[in-house]
Amino acid sequence: MFMEVAPDMRVVTADKLELLGSPLLAEAVEGALMKKVGQTQVLADQLGILPTHQAIFLLKNCLSLPKLLYLLRTAECWQYPDALQKFDETIRSKAEQLTNVSMTNTVWEQAALPTRFGGLGLVKAADVALAAYASSLHGVADVVHSIVRSNSVQEKCTRLTEAWTSCYTADAPRTENRRFQSAWTAVQHTRTATRMLENADVITRARLLAASSSESRAWLAALPVSIFGNLLEDAHLRIAVARRLGAPVCQPHVCRCGSTVDSLGHHGLVCKLAKGRHGTHAVLNAATKEPSGLDRGDGKRPDGVTAFPWRNGKPLVWDVTVADTFAQTYIGHTSRVPGSAAEVRENQKLRKYDGLADRYVVQPLAFETTGTFGPLTKKFFKDLSRKICECSGNPRSGEFLRQRISTEIQRGSAVSVLGTFNEMRDNEDVFLAFRLADRE
Ligand SMILES: [Zn+2]
Repeated sequence: MFMEVAPDMRVVTADKLELLGSPLLAEAVEGALMKKVGQTQVLADQLGILPTHQAIFLLKNCLSLPKLLYLLRTAECWQYPDALQKFDETIRSKAEQLTNVSMTNTVWEQAALPTRFGGLGLVKAADVALAAYASSLHGVADVVHSIVRSNSVQEKCTRLTEAWTSCYTADAPRTENRRFQSAWTAVQHTRTATRMLENADVITRARLLAASSSESRAWLAALPVSIFGNLLEDAHLRIAVARRLGAPVCQPHVCRCGSTVDSLGHHGLVCKLAKGRHGTHAVLNAATKEPSGLDRGDGKRPDGVTAFPWRNGKPLVWDVTVADTFAQTYIGHTSRVPGSAAEVRENQKLRKYDGLADRYVVQPLAFETTGTFGPLTKKFFKDLSRKICECSGNPRSGEFLRQRISTEIQRGSAVSVLGTFNEMRDNEDVFLAFRLADRE
């Protein structure tokens, strides 16, 4: 009868009912989630035409969780774990396909952590769905209460808090912080990262600690554009991702120097014949020629000196060094404190240039192959960043410098690993085929 009077009226069933793009009723939530899975699949399939580094950057920052977050915050998606898992599996398989790194359960567990916890930042929807909805509801509870004058919203907030507490067996965030999603997820991610560290052997511990440091993850935040020097080649990106997540980097083989290279490619970082080690040193060092007149008497000179006084009327001399996080000498340190291999090298450099200390500010620049900095190096870059920001007027200049260095270390480490393949370096055709295979 009604349709006869208004034939053009659109009839919307409960499972399709939406307001501002969010399902209004519980019947519509699962369908809305599955629609997102389909859309994400279509968009993610388009990423294959881009260089891998750009594709993975877009997957992380635009297509994965960011695409779903509005829905997670406005509807009770957390009640539909199967649909959330389908979404997460779509992202996992796309990440595996793009990076050519096998996303086994252990690898994926780390990849799905935010970068500051050592992951790739491909955070799982299933992990944040409850936190997203609970924080969203806590954020609007007071306003809703002032409009509807009912306690139903507060009661729902309490129920959600209890659900979260029992699910994660942890205390809920403080009341004033419950409107922040990050307050809830930080607890979850800290628990996951701590558990991974507790179950790890020394090599894995060193890797996880290094991956969480702000310097070693800076490359993941860099805009992957070649003109800025921040775009990693596909083969380098694959190795950087695999080394970060502890996935196999290559088949075990014999290095061109005769040593054995394991599947994690560690030997490449300490091999005397690896090209990347020298390349990294050269790129990290701004001076191309060691300055004359700074000889300590044994023919060894620091890498560079400033033309003008740096501090207290003294010019700055610097010397660059890159230590391998996993080297036998350092693993005892780095499996407890990230950056401690670089710290040992800093102290060695200070002793080495002790004779120059009365005329110069001696600055060791010590990095690790995983991308961490020594404590003195970190402090130096903080000072340098402040100076660059003052000159450029851009408050992010320091961050851009850190991203650039971080990218360069990843590139150098990848080149070092590839440098262990003697025959591939000598035969460009095979090497090219190997690199092309990375993209498929
Ligand atoms: Zn070697």
